[in-house]
Amino acid sequence: MTIYADNAATTKLSDTALQAMLPLMQEHYGNPSSLHHIGQKAKEYVEDCRERIAACINASPGEIYFTSGGSEADNQAIQTAAALGAKKNKKHIISSKFEHHAVLHTLEQLEKQGYEITLLDVYKEGVVRVEDVAAAIREDTALVTIMTANNEIGTLQPIEEIGKLCKEKGVLFHTDAVQAVGHIPVDVKAMNCDLLSVSAHKFHGPKGVGFLYCKKGTALQSLIHGGAQERNKRAGTEYTYGIAGMTAALEEAVTNLDKNAAYVSSLRDIIIDGVADIEKSFVNGDLAHRLPGTVNMCFEGIEGESLLLLLDQNGICASSGSACTSGSLDPSHVLLALGVPVAIAHGSLRISLSEYNTKEEAEFIVKAIHQVVPYLRSISPVWERIQKGEVIE
Ligand SMILES: *Cc1c(COP(=O)(O)O)cnc(C)c1O
Repeated sequence: MTIYADNAATTKLSDTALQAMLPLMQEHYGNPSSLHHIGQKAKEYVEDCRERIAACINASPGEIYFTSGGSEADNQAIQTAAALGAKKNKKHIISSKFEHHAVLHTLEQLEKQGYEITLLDVYKEGVVRVEDVAAAIREDTALVTIMTANNEIGTLQPIEEIGKLCKEKGVLFHTDAVQAVGHIPVDVKAMNCDLLSVSAHKFHGPKGVGFLYCKKGTALQSLIHGGAQERNKRAGTEYTYGIAGMTAALEEAVTNLDKNAAYVSSLRDIIIDGVADIEKSFVNGDLAHRLPGTVNMCFEGIEGESLLLLLDQNGICASSGSACTSGSLDPSHVLLALGVPVAIAHGSLRISLSEYNTKEEAEFIVKAIHQVVPYLRSISPVWERIQKGEVIE
């Protein structure tokens, strides 16, 4: 038996998405830049997808730029804002401590190039405060970039308010909406954002494709130079079947959004309620403002890696946090930003569910955690010290 509970890392491709991809792989395989009919057919598909995707987030087709995924979209958005800022001698960027590494590492690069970066606190709740953004904005602020939903703990950020503030102050606003799109309503106009990043494989689309929304009038800079694809803003032959799969997956997700959100959050709550009686354990981040499917918990006195391995032996695929940092022994930068002590941050578990999960699976996960946590504690010297009342740092 396999229970896939790592949907924040990636999701299963939906059948609808697969079916939308096959004709572009097998029949309409032309290069959209070719002038012959098979090329033009492929181009028609791509432009149709652009329109349908724009409709899903209340944008115009001309504001959608296809990319290789969320990381590229984040890089392009931030590099664009940095370049536009530099032209006006604005080299200050505001972000938060718990952004995805695609954002944080891009900002680190910019810092080396002379930009000044302010990373806002996210507090114990894992939520950026609008008043902190307001206080951080300066005359020379070029960009505010705050994620819509955090990938490790699932908390939602006050994006509409931050967007409104940035608009009033005349500062560009980017949001990494990779975990949000297809899971909660996303409307670029309501969010007041200038740039927004999306990745298909987080909503049952294929891997290696995503898009950047860039509001009309914002001069997008190119990261990849070459041909004239994507109105000269992103060179490279279009990933036609990826784009088709992403479009089908997004439409499917948006059509079923309310139904899926209600169902998936009921499964998530089975897990939160089911493990609440385990002593010295807690859920990370605000309970009220969160994605339907994601929950991140800490169990004191155990190692997240051992917990994952034992869950895996029970058929359960989960994560200790982000897929990008697992494999390294560094504790999660997200949990540290929340103020979780290093020793406890090592004992974290992220369960991220989707509409493909069942109630029985959620109940099985609860049962497995109830077996595995006490077992690991029974062989843990750290747990022994905790029980003697020692404070572990
Ligand atoms: C997955 C993820 C990304 C990276 O997207 P890719 O398409 O895998 O490059 C960026 N930001 C967040 C919040 C993510 O969850």
